[in-house]
Amino acid sequence: MEIVALPGQAATGKVWLVGAGPGDVDLLTVKAHRILQSADAVLYDALVSDEILALIPKHAEKIAVGKRAGKHSAAQSEINQLLVTKAYTRKNVVRLKGGDPFIFGRGGEELETIVAAGVEFEVIPGITAASGTAAYAGIPLTHRDYAQGVSFITGHCKLESRPMDWQAYANPNNTLVVYMGILNADLIKQGLMGAGRSAQTPVAIVSKATTPDQQTFVGTLDNIDELAKHPDLVMPALMVIGEVVELAGSLNWFTPDNSQLIDSELAAQLK
Ligand code: SAH
Repeated sequence: MEIVALPGQAATGKVWLVGAGPGDVDLLTVKAHRILQSADAVLYDALVSDEILALIPKHAEKIAVGKRAGKHSAAQSEINQLLVTKAYTRKNVVRLKGGDPFIFGRGGEELETIVAAGVEFEVIPGITAASGTAAYAGIPLTHRDYAQGVSFITGHCKLESRPMDWQAYANPNNTLVVYMGILNADLIKQGLMGAGRSAQTPVAIVSKATTPDQQTFVGTLDNIDELAKHPDLVMPALMVIGEVVELAGSLNWFTPDNSQLIDSELAAQLK
């Protein structure tokens, strides 16, 4: 049984659930920056960039709780508990997450424990990977000529109890953004094409979006699994599926030296 609070004692510290944005340090909100500078303890994920970590005051305790290749990552329950424990000994406890804490960030789960323990908290939104990717790869997520809506989904495809509703995601007038989908590109392709989405739907895989290492791989739905296996593809990466990807050729303003539009028939058309 998890102990969430010390009986008879209230925590005097406050937990700040903060979104760090997709990578570029300049995409941190002014509020996130201010709170980070007043932090006494910071629990951060692997996706938070070094430049952002450099903004944490020297005296603050820094705790890495996210997954990094090969190293131990704390279990979600341990992180939840640690946030509560720190609120007993520290004034400002910052839980720093990549992107936005409420978009595939488990922010809700962490807050449930904090609420149960009676600890004070605030949430600071961040620019989610989809918004950062869209802006820096020149792919508007909606556009009156191409897409009337956009859906953000997880490509984890793991929950057998709750299968992916491909029919709901196959609407040709909707942009689909897939987080954490690279390893399941094949399943995503089969699911969407099986539900009637055209094999020729333009797709982009954008890796390390908003950083100097950003790369954009463009293709079509029927070769998304090949794009996902591209040897130059570095994590984290996001998939954008839909007609709006056609705009990448003309709206891409952010072109770090190593950026490339991987050749495919579609990429050739876009140039
Ligand atoms: N809370 C985060 C998402 C965490 S899930 C947010 O709002 O952005 C992790 C997934 O986000 C990764 O698997 C990847 O699909 C995506 N992602 C995060 N940062 C990214 C980046 N800089 N470039 C491309 N994809 C990114």
